[in-house]
Order: sequence, then C-alpha cells, then structure tokens
Amino acid sequence: MAKIDVLVVGAGLAGLVAASTLLAQRATVRVLEARDRVGGRTLTHRVAQGADGFDLGATWCWSYQTEIQRLAAELGVETFAQHEAGYAVYDGGGGAPPQPFLLPANPYVSLRFAGGAQTLCERLATDMEPEQVSLGVVARTITSSVDGVRVVAERSGGEPAHFEARLVIVSLPPRLALHTLCFTPDLPAPMKRAMAETPTWMGGAMKCVVTYRSAFWRERGVSGRGVSYTGPLSEIHDASTAEGTHSALFGFFRGSGSGRDRTPAQRRDKALRQLARMFGPEAAHPIDYLELDWAREVYTSTPQDALPLSEHPAYGHPIFRQPAPGDRIHWAGTETAPQEGGYLDGAVRSGEDAARRVLALLRSGSRTSPTPAGSPA
Ligand SMILES: Cc1cc2nc3c(=O)[nH]c(=O)nc-3n(C[C@H](O)[C@H](O)[C@H](O)COP(=O)(O)OP(=O)(O)OC[C@H]3O[C@@H](n4cnc5c(N)ncnc54)[C@H](O)[C@@H]3O)c2cc1C
Repeated sequence: MAKIDVLVVGAGLAGLVAASTLLAQRATVRVLEARDRVGGRTLTHRVAQGADGFDLGATWCWSYQTEIQRLAAELGVETFAQHEAGYAVYDGGGGAPPQPFLLPANPYVSLRFAGGAQTLCERLATDMEPEQVSLGVVARTITSSVDGVRVVAERSGGEPAHFEARLVIVSLPPRLALHTLCFTPDLPAPMKRAMAETPTWMGGAMKCVVTYRSAFWRERGVSGRGVSYTGPLSEIHDASTAEGTHSALFGFFRGSGSGRDRTPAQRRDKALRQLARMFGPEAAHPIDYLELDWAREVYTSTPQDALPLSEHPAYGHPIFRQPAPGDRIHWAGTETAPQEGGYLDGAVRSGEDAARRVLALLRSGSRTSPTPAGSPA
C-alpha cells in the first residue's frame, strides 16, 4: 500500500491541532472533513467575506484556560474580554416586568476571539497544503489490519473515496463516531460503551444571534446579559464584534420548549418579542436574525444528544487514551480530554495528546511504522 503516516478524520479544532502538531514533526498527514468547511462546532457567520462575524457555535475561552490562549497567540488571533459592564436583566416571569440586577464579579474573564472562534480553525487549515485537508469527504468505514488502516468515505457528490495510512486519528465526538462509523474489526465492548455514554457537549444547543445598528442596551448601562425563566431564550449575552463596529445579542433557546416544533419565523418572532421586553423596544427591529439548531447537525449530534445537558459531564474517559486493538486507531476530540473536556481548550489538549501518542508509535519503529515520521519515503 502507498501510505501516508496519519489520516485525521474531522477538521474541527481537535483534528486540526492534531494534524498541525504532526506536520510540525514532518509526519505525512491528510485530514478528511465531512462538511464543506473546517471548524466543526466553531462556526462564525461573517458580515462580509474575510470580515468580522458572529459565532453560531463556540464563543469564549476563559482566562484560566492556558492551551487555547497559547494556540490563539501562536496563530495571531487576538482575544478580547466579553462585554459585561453594566446591569444584567432578570426575566423571572409570573407577570413581573424584567428587572436590572448586578451579577457578582466572575473570578475568570470570558474571552472572545477577534474575527470569531472559527478563525482559529481557518488559520490552522490555511497553514496546511490544500491536498492535506479534504473537505466534503464523509468517512464511513475504518478498517485496520497489520498493514495499516483504510478509510472508505463518500464525497459530497456521492462518489466513493478510499484513503490509506499507517494510523488514523478519529476526532469526531465519540458518540457520533460510534453512531456513524463502521469499524472493522469491531471495537471492543468497553470502548463502545464509553463512546455511547459520552454525551456530545452542546450537541443539543440551539443558538440565535440578533444583529442591530447600534448596541442600544449599552447606552442604557445594560450589559446585554439576560437571564430568563420565561423564554424562549434562557441566557442572553452581548455578541458585538471586537471593534464594536457590528452590534448584536445572542441567546440560547431553553432546553424544553425550545421551539423546535415551531418554524424559524415563529421562533424569530418570539425571540424578538422577548428581547424587546427585556432590553427595550429597539430590540424588535434588528438588521438580521440568525439561528442554528446544533441537534440537526448530523456531523455533530446524534438523536441522543438532542436535549441540552443539565450539567457539564465528566469527560476524558481513560479508554480514549488507548488505541483500538491493533494500535491503528487513535482518539481525539474535546470529549476525550480529561482536562477542560467539552471546551475549546480541551479540544486543543486532546489534539496535541493524540498527536504525541501517534508520533511515539511512528518513531518507535514498531510494526505500525515501517517508516518513522520524517524519513524519506
Ligand atoms: C452552540 C455551541 C456553543 C459552544 N460554546 C462554547 C464556548 O463558548 N466555549 C468553549 O470552550 N466551547 C464551546 N462549545 C464547545 C466547542 O465548540 C467544542 O469544544 C469544540 O469546538 C470541539 O472541537 P472538536 O474538534 O473536538 O469537535 P468538532 O468541532 O465537533 O469536530 C469534529 C469534526 O468532525 C467532522 N465529522 C463528523 N463526522 C465526520 C465524518 N463521518 N467524516 C469526516 N468528518 C466528520 C465534523 O464536521 C467536525 O468538523 C460550544 C459548542 C456549541 C455547539
């Protein structure tokens, strides 16, 4: 077989960090991504091509998270503090009008990424050669043998594609990998159990971003932070761009009664009425309303992930730091990270860890690696 060293399935943050770490060590790598874009659960809606934008997926990292901040600095992506100055608005329901209140100071600063969180993934991919990142390639089966690993995939046009390598890093959310990929030979039962029992972080989230001509709430001493028990949005934040040139609020739809049974127009109408009630009548007249239901994203969520989680799960099951039997299949992805699992920071850690494990195998000269990484082919 004419083989490269490593195939990485998934061009989210974890997969791209794994690939870039491997490439820096002169391993030969190819990333296979199902969507027509990189970024996975980071997705920035740009106001114009190459311009600043609004995050429909991940928004923040926090000041204590070292790995994501280090990566952002390396990639030249600036961070800026979430706008928190002013009163938050509490919407308790029961006919009472929304009330301003002061939130206690957060010990950690919530930081946003200039240009949007997807910029991190776009920069990582831009640093790679075009043939190293294949978009619109949906992995379907992964077959491992003593010779290496073979991924059978489907291109967006429906035609099949085959890829071979010494090793593969699977960076999908584990539950999605179990739900959508076929492994030959089959994975061991404890590994499949751990994958099935690992919820996809934010897989059930539905988020909307509402853009305005000005941040009128700030002019009234209101931060844009809202907490609501009536909904449809339960949690609201200022989403204006770094320079403040584009103003916006974003909100998460409530877990139950999230309005999945309604049309987007109905959801928009309800969300705008709520924002006007909480932040003032200007909120009813946006420039634009954007929404994304991550539960409908087949390259993120499984049907089991549709309902938002009530608390942050304990991620990083130790089994994900072991390869599948045969040493060919390795795991990355934020849900596999024992530290900061679920977050962008965990995705970075998991990608780097997977790359380190794979590099060790490639360099060990064991049967998995007839050619150590960096050797002439
Ligand atoms: C609405 C929302 C808000 C969030 N807010 C925050 C936040 O503020 N801060 C924070 O730290 N985290 C947040 N998160 C979580 C954060 O987005 C994730 O931790 C991170 O993006 C996960 O990266 P990943 O690479 O592990 O997985 P993913 O981003 O899910 O990447 C997996 C990749 O695999 C691809 N893929 C799937 N199936 C296949 C296949 N068969 N073949 C090939 N490719 C495939 C996918 O398209 C995707 O690109 C949020 C997530 C969501 C959805």
